[in-house]
Amino acid sequence: MANQQPLLGASLDELTDWVQQQEQPAYRGKQLYQWLYDRGARSLSEITVFPKQWRQEMSGVALGRSRIQHRSVAPDGTIKYLLELADGNIIETVGIPTEKRLTVCVSTQVGCPMACDFCATGKGEYIRNLERHEIVDQVLTVREEFQRRVSHVVFMGMGEPLLNTDNVLDAIASLNRDLGIGARSITVSTVGIPGRIRAFAENQLQVTLAVSLHAHTQALREQLIPSAKHYPIEDLFAECRDYVAKTGRRITFEYLLLAELNDSVEQSADLARWLRGFQCHVNLIPYNPIVEVDYRRPDRRRVRAFAEALQQKNIAVSIRYSKGLEVDAACGQLRAQQS
Ligand code: SAH
Repeated sequence: MANQQPLLGASLDELTDWVQQQEQPAYRGKQLYQWLYDRGARSLSEITVFPKQWRQEMSGVALGRSRIQHRSVAPDGTIKYLLELADGNIIETVGIPTEKRLTVCVSTQVGCPMACDFCATGKGEYIRNLERHEIVDQVLTVREEFQRRVSHVVFMGMGEPLLNTDNVLDAIASLNRDLGIGARSITVSTVGIPGRIRAFAENQLQVTLAVSLHAHTQALREQLIPSAKHYPIEDLFAECRDYVAKTGRRITFEYLLLAELNDSVEQSADLARWLRGFQCHVNLIPYNPIVEVDYRRPDRRRVRAFAEALQQKNIAVSIRYSKGLEVDAACGQLRAQQS
């Protein structure tokens, strides 16, 4: 029993099968489902509609919930959570509220092996992939904390989602089916792993794929993202084109803006050349500082000039001024530490 996969993330059918294996009537599957996803049960022993003796027998069955180890609340209402997993590892998840939305930024790995030079997660140790239940739990935890429906989920926390594609796909299925979050309200962000964007497209999901591009040349991309050495920028774009063709969904290119490195209007023209005729959207992310490196964030005027230059070339652009900067909860600042 102890070796069994935790129940969170399982569908109604799977839970019904499971209770029947335990020689309980099928309707207890539905009860379990409701307690797991609607009431947020943390252990079987608290599910009071179950017979007392069975509850006791099953008290060791893991539902798969984490423990909140720490909360950091930013002035804009963004809250960063440090969550302790069953094996004691710590991950971060971020709840980002606005009037109309509640977005959860979920982690997919404990740490990250990609080692992007500008990212706090990449400066720490990589430990392991997250399981399905550990991803679903993050969304449930934020929903409980805010006592509000989660409208959007972004796979932009710690880790590289396409190094953990199977569990990410399983988690997306559960978020969709069990927590009622529409695929179109889910974004998966990747730095790009050879072959994986094309493979991801095969699932024909309606989620948004965001690709961390960050540079308009192979040389600059390699400087910022060590793994790009094994992934020529032409190949990355080719996979992105295939993704659009296969799914009919436009791609978001994330472009980190680093002062005097990749933020000039001339560079925006080079970027525009790559993106001509591409069904895409560019999301500019002004750099959020981390202590290990001395990159700088361009000032607002320069960010706007870069955006306008792209717009003039008919490229759809948005600017992401990350929330939660004050508590190191913004893009690139997650390192599983209190702040
Ligand atoms: N590994 C995935 C998920 C991380 S998503 C990916 O690379 O896409 C978080 C986004 O924030 C990515 O685009 C990432 O490159 C960006 N980012 C990382 N460090 C940052 C920083 N210091 N400031 C702003 N954005 C950063």
